[in-house]
Amino acid sequence: MKYIYFFGARKAQGSGEMKDLLGGKGAGLAEMTRIGLPVPAGFTITTVACDYYFKHDRKHPRELAGQVAANLKRLERVTGKKLGDAKDPLLVSVRSGSARSMPGMMETILNLGLNSRSVTGLARTTGNERFAYDAYRRFVQMYSTVVIGLAKDELEAKLRAMKERLKVKDDTKVPAEAWKQLVSEYKEHFRSKTGRDFPEDPQEQLWDAIGAVFESWMAEKAVTYRRVEKITGLLGTAVSVVQMVFGNTGENSGTGVCFTRDPSTGEKTFYGDFLINAQGEDVVAGIRTPMHLKELQRRMPEIYEQLESARRLLETHYRDMQDMEFTVEDGKLYMLQTRGGKRTPAATFKMAVDMVSERLISKEEALMRVKPEDIERLFYPVIDASLPRTDLNKRRLATGISAVPGAAVGKAVFTAHEAEEWAQGGQKVILVRRETSPEDVGGMFVAQGILTATGGKTSHAAVVARGWGKCCVVGCEQLDIDYAEKRLRANGRVVRQGDWITLDGSEGAVYEGEVALIMPELPPAYTTLMKWADAVRRLGVRTNADTPQDARKAREMGAEGIGLCRTEHMFFKDFEQPERSHERQLAIQEMIVAESGDARRKALEKLLPFQRRDFVGLFKAMDGCPVTIRLIDPPLHEFVPHDRAQQEEVARKIGVDAKVVIRRVEQLREANPMLGHRGCRLAITYPEILEMQVRAIIEAARVADQIIKKAGVKLEYSVGTMIELPRAALLADQIAEVAEFFSFGTNDLTQTVMGLSRDDAGRFLPDYVDEKKAGIFPADPFQTLDLPGVGMMIKWAIDRGRKTKPKLKIGICGEHAGDAASVKFCHQVGMDYVSPSPFGVPIARLAAAQAVIEERAAGRSKAKGKRKK
Ligand code: PEP
Ligand code: MG
Repeated sequence: MKYIYFFGARKAQGSGEMKDLLGGKGAGLAEMTRIGLPVPAGFTITTVACDYYFKHDRKHPRELAGQVAANLKRLERVTGKKLGDAKDPLLVSVRSGSARSMPGMMETILNLGLNSRSVTGLARTTGNERFAYDAYRRFVQMYSTVVIGLAKDELEAKLRAMKERLKVKDDTKVPAEAWKQLVSEYKEHFRSKTGRDFPEDPQEQLWDAIGAVFESWMAEKAVTYRRVEKITGLLGTAVSVVQMVFGNTGENSGTGVCFTRDPSTGEKTFYGDFLINAQGEDVVAGIRTPMHLKELQRRMPEIYEQLESARRLLETHYRDMQDMEFTVEDGKLYMLQTRGGKRTPAATFKMAVDMVSERLISKEEALMRVKPEDIERLFYPVIDASLPRTDLNKRRLATGISAVPGAAVGKAVFTAHEAEEWAQGGQKVILVRRETSPEDVGGMFVAQGILTATGGKTSHAAVVARGWGKCCVVGCEQLDIDYAEKRLRANGRVVRQGDWITLDGSEGAVYEGEVALIMPELPPAYTTLMKWADAVRRLGVRTNADTPQDARKAREMGAEGIGLCRTEHMFFKDFEQPERSHERQLAIQEMIVAESGDARRKALEKLLPFQRRDFVGLFKAMDGCPVTIRLIDPPLHEFVPHDRAQQEEVARKIGVDAKVVIRRVEQLREANPMLGHRGCRLAITYPEILEMQVRAIIEAARVADQIIKKAGVKLEYSVGTMIELPRAALLADQIAEVAEFFSFGTNDLTQTVMGLSRDDAGRFLPDYVDEKKAGIFPADPFQTLDLPGVGMMIKWAIDRGRKTKPKLKIGICGEHAGDAASVKFCHQVGMDYVSPSPFGVPIARLAAAQAVIEERAAGRSKAKGKRKK
């Protein structure tokens, strides 16, 4: 088994297509080497080796040792240097990288190969002792924290103390002697904590580093990131061992991160950060605030030119926006990484549409590039532009760098851990940190927005937040943050933990208090792309809506009808005349309390005009599009109060004895009401409720029909059924004899097929999904259809139903109708439409188009396979 792929001297064993095996980083390095970019030499250990490591009790595959030795030899040959050499040592970085980008979640170790002998060699060959010992202390620090797991804070405290002693601020101003001294202190610390000496043997260092990179795959922060990003099915991380190049050898060196287009707006401009005289992670870690590429162009025009041509080459090569890392060592450019760059949702749409007009990609590719989350995140709020600027300015606390646009309001919280706790308790929080690190990812995810005092647009906070489309302001240096006191000072004011603040991610502004937010206008590229999706998809997209407002909203979002109107929702509130809500509530309570059929009918007569008006509103809003109305479904006890005082009040209002109400509530009590007296079971006991509803619908339709006639539409109606129980699915052929359509209620079908209560399972389902615990389900089955079980039941019911009635119309109206993977399944099994909630409509439109594109691609590869045979 080949576990290692070499790259260097313009040749690479791997390629850009081997992301699953080499990780994004390894594949990128191999591909850049192939296309002639200046990449330091190295080799990549595959993700298969990582998978083996975890499956075999943390042991490496037998062949690995030999393969590492052979590749190291080759690297020494190519570079003309030897690992651990006292004269001219080879130094390497050991980097992680999985198939999907996980910014900062896993570890990198730099300057490996340094020991007390080779450091003198490095000092001699570079003629820079200060640099050599700085490199050594960085290595000792990284090894101690990443490989051994010693606390970073303690080492950083020693560094800070040393700088204070010397009265210097900048690392580059620390003299060689002081670095030497710090290395000794670090080593002493290492000995006191581990009981052994810091390893001198570079082989030992290398193998420990490889193990540490593998281990970082299962580190809590990485596991959390995969969970929140729903990344599943990967083998693990690859390990790239790469010859070191140094950005910290002096003013003619530096390190940077850049994007081929602006990841915030999608504009085709070169975008990035650069730090002079800095190494490795300094840019992303956000410790110093870096300079813009324009400044690099001024200071190092030749390097900028080379970088610009690498930008052009990589973007046309990958046909996508790239995120690149580079280092300049003594005036020479090296490319260290390229990968598909994270971008805001608005930028995703703009780039996809622009690249089609630039003929870089096809419309189909553009459609495949947009993720459901990109759509969701387009609907994030912004600050209401009509608010007076002067008022806003008075509340301004500080201004930083706009990292991710949109706005957010929440309570300031200073630790990620507390952010998670507060959010769990239902509070809206803004996470405020000096800088974020991957450990903060859980808190960042639940926060409405993220604010940091340091860092640039490519800092950890910015990159992670951008991936989520989450409002983020970084580099807000006016903030004086005190973690111990949990407060910040800015502009003469103090914000304590729990105080409200507002972020404007588009301007980089921070305001005191809650500022009003509104929804933004959709970018033009969104409309263009969604039109393309509609032209491709075959599946219809309706929506679940119970009010004219929702229906109108859903129409704006592209719904072609209503797939489910839950009529019982109309009983709680009058959306057209809210002041009359209590009248309809009382009418339904009177109907429920009624002890005879006649009394019930009398109450229902009162409800009829309300329902009729509701339906007229709905039909008008839908303007001739189909509307599926579900007759009353929930258990009746939901409409009557359960505490004594309220029961007495209802009795008084209806004009019956309180005992009647109390007795009735008692009669309606059910241990598991969601599986109880609801749905068509109510129709068997109380047919008169349904009679009233049907009358309201038909009468409303007649009224609406006159309006709709103008549009030339004929009133048609059909009667179908929800399929929500396994028995109904199993006997679908019989049901289809009388039903004109099926609508799968997959919320209930999931709970009944899986035997999981939709109300209670939320408490333990996360354990089923958590890859560190059980990892039984790839996703929550109430969000994404369980294809093996519930999916099979649906397929069976469709086949059976259509055997009886080949043209049987079939849709889905459970929550799954707004989940991309589930929508694709609905397409595959031949449903006619899906019906999600209004915000799910564009997701369903896109997923339905992607399903067609995937089907075409599968057809093409099948045909190709046949031709080959
Ligand atoms: C369902 O069960 O999927 C459904 C749409 O009905 P409800 O959510 O109202 O029970
Ligand atoms: Mg249901």
